[in-house]
Amino acid sequence: MNDAYCETPTPAPAPSDAGPPYAECVLCRKPTEYPEATKGSTLCPVCAWQEAGRTACSG
Ligand SMILES: [Zn+2]
Repeated sequence: MNDAYCETPTPAPAPSDAGPPYAECVLCRKPTEYPEATKGSTLCPVCAWQEAGRTACSG
């Protein structure tokens, strides 16, 4: 029963800010691979892939 006192309180997980701030996806607002300074519309890999597929399939 004393084991519980041996555990130190778990600190809140630090936000993963190891990299530079990333621009958020214009579609789903998830962080993209592009830096925040990127001009224009930035897409996350998922949305970029979907957009690419949509473009390829259109017409
Ligand atoms: Zn997205």
